Amino acid sequence: MNPENFIADHVSSLPRSGIRDFFAIVSEMPQAISLGIGEPDFITPWKIREASIYALEQGKTSYTDNRGLLSLRKEISKYCASFFGPEYNPESEVLVTVGVSEAIDIALRAVLNPGDKVLYHEPCYVSYSPSVTLAFGEAIPVATTPGQDFSLDPEAFEKAWQPGCKILMLNFPTNPTGGTADFDKLEKLAKFAIEKDLLVISDEIYAELTYEGEHVSIASLPGMKERTLLLHGFSKGFAMTGFRVGFGCGPDWLIEAMMKIHQYCMMCAPILSQEAAIEALRNGLSDVSRMREQYHKRRDFVVKRFNEIGLKCHLPRGSFYAFPSVECTGLNETDFCHRLLREQEVAVVPGTAFGEHGRNHVRASFSTSYDKLVEATDRIEKFVCSVDLENKKSEAV
Ligand code: PLP
Repeated sequence: MNPENFIADHVSSLPRSGIRDFFAIVSEMPQAISLGIGEPDFITPWKIREASIYALEQGKTSYTDNRGLLSLRKEISKYCASFFGPEYNPESEVLVTVGVSEAIDIALRAVLNPGDKVLYHEPCYVSYSPSVTLAFGEAIPVATTPGQDFSLDPEAFEKAWQPGCKILMLNFPTNPTGGTADFDKLEKLAKFAIEKDLLVISDEIYAELTYEGEHVSIASLPGMKERTLLLHGFSKGFAMTGFRVGFGCGPDWLIEAMMKIHQYCMMCAPILSQEAAIEALRNGLSDVSRMREQYHKRRDFVVKRFNEIGLKCHLPRGSFYAFPSVECTGLNETDFCHRLLREQEVAVVPGTAFGEHGRNHVRASFSTSYDKLVEATDRIEKFVCSVDLENKKSEAV
């Protein structure tokens, strides 16, 4: 059998995630400290795990309503009203999904006709461009730049707009740069979305992990609820990656269209995870604050250390990622990561895994214990000093 005759063209031309191959190497190195993974180092709080265990004991092992348990949708609706602002009808404007990952996929598939265009800021989460491709859309990345600490530039979106643009995809706080959008910029973007009649997909999965000011959702701005799909989930703030549960809230016509795909490809999110998510929203918010405090301390430490080492690093205002520049070493981001791993056994991710605009940068996750961060940054310092020495020697020759 010739695989080329079977794998669809748009799938065979899809690049593999750069992160996956790199971490296959890391997993073979027991001494390595990984600042690479994009998930909390905290175990899901006990009461949330217990809710899932209790549901299992009670024999809750069935499918649920395709949209998710109504009791969960009601909790989501309450949480969105209090945390994000807009009120969503749990019957028709909320869909529980298998993580935000599924929500991104089915939203794009529900909306895009072949060739429709999607604007998004880059560097960005690894799945955006492939998800657009898999939905037969065309990805239009708009650069955020180190000169502006990777902050959002509404004018850049206006310049990048072209006929055929249908979706504006946003992610604040941003993976991998930790950027957040201030109110003025969100207002400009909202105006742009309304003028150009764009649907906004707003991935706010790191919303609880905001360290400077309050998180603002674009869905809460005037005229935006009706054209915004707000995506959120439990993986990051609630430390529930393995539960695979997230949700989308938006206009009923969009939720209905997404539901059509969801009911055939997923049926529903796992019931035990939905039960855990109910507990997370009812009683888990103090745990979220506790974890956020830890991330906050770690953030301040790693950013200070990176800057001391000479790796220029802006302050991430949210998420659990720092995105320092490695330009001063004279190494490109990929060589930096491979050599750092080989020579000092610390893993960070090349910025270009998040798109071309991440060049000369690496992503270092601070969802790792404080002690490990101390050790990892000491090792990075040793590495940068040794490269510096090497550079000086070769200059002297
Ligand atoms: N969106 C962003 C920006 C992410 O960083 C991630 C995971 O890293 C996801 C979505 C996927 O989240 P989930 O675990 O809910 O599928």
